[in-house]
Amino acid sequence: MKITVLGAGGMGSRFAIMLHNAGNEVNLVDGWQENIDAIRNNGISANMNNQDINVRLPISTPQEIDKTGNNADLIIVFTKSNQLQETFEAVKPIIGRTTYVLCLLNGIGHEEILKEFVPTKNILQGITMWTAIMDGPGKVRLSGDGNVELQNFEPEGKVFAEKVVDVFNKAGLNAKYSNNVKYSIWRKACVNGTLNSLCTILECNIGQLGKTKEADTLLKKIIAEFAAVSEKEGIRLDQNEVFNHVSETFSGVGEHYPSMYQDLIKNHRLTEINFINGAVTNKGEKYGISTPYCDILTQLIHAKEEILNVS
Ligand code: NAD
Repeated sequence: MKITVLGAGGMGSRFAIMLHNAGNEVNLVDGWQENIDAIRNNGISANMNNQDINVRLPISTPQEIDKTGNNADLIIVFTKSNQLQETFEAVKPIIGRTTYVLCLLNGIGHEEILKEFVPTKNILQGITMWTAIMDGPGKVRLSGDGNVELQNFEPEGKVFAEKVVDVFNKAGLNAKYSNNVKYSIWRKACVNGTLNSLCTILECNIGQLGKTKEADTLLKKIIAEFAAVSEKEGIRLDQNEVFNHVSETFSGVGEHYPSMYQDLIKNHRLTEINFINGAVTNKGEKYGISTPYCDILTQLIHAKEEILNVS
């Protein structure tokens, strides 16, 4: 399959390497010049399950794509959520009539941006439990196992979605076709909407959050807001199950600092809050549902971005 990966960060590099190793034609597109230069000059250096590997893949800036006019069968999106709109404006030339776009980003509401550029029948959405860490330009750390769940939103897309599942499985990505991927997207967003935003505001790891007396109440209140809003979109979250799922991480991955903490506190980068708690706030306004916890979390994270002078 001819695949373009948009965003050659941690996750983009992981998927690109695994799909390339399985014989697919993979091109990378990225907007961070130091990263592009490093990958062009030295390839992607990855520590994959404690083994150092180096993989050479073509990489271009979104602007360079104009010259190729080369349509991909599949575009996999692995920018940060807040880079999505700008990146798609720039890569319009590689979106042909038969190009499918797969979005596995954390959070909610990406399809509303994608629909501006791609017909809904060509959009696939999903979640992934694979992980990746970027250590610097052209350098990634990839450990552990993961999986992918994906689904098309219109019947015409199902044949291609199943083809993607097959291509991913041949690459060891452990994919499955889901009949209700929106549920999984909202369930995962509850994990991010509790752990990411709270640990970032409190500047603590997941285990420290879990040990506070307030943790259970905070989780329940936030999850209730996600559930009230998702119900308006036809997704009825099992709040107890989601609460148990999130709380399990307190002991399971206790010392881990969530990605939002790493983005804002450690690396001084913008967060994806507008696509997590911020998305619930916006949808809550639209449906007339009050979401005070998500509102204040979103405002506090934005205030912290300002204080840290992150743009
Ligand atoms: P990433 O930050 O590693 O890369 C995303 C983009 O940001 C890339 O284009 C990269 O080149 C650029 N970038 C990275 N560091 C930069 C810097 N210092 N300055 C400027 N640009 C920089 O993001 P990721 O972890 O690959 O995540 C991509 C998406 O996948 C996000 O929506 C994330 O929530 C989701 N996701 C991540 C993981 C994970 O374990 N990392 C797991 C599941 C889902």
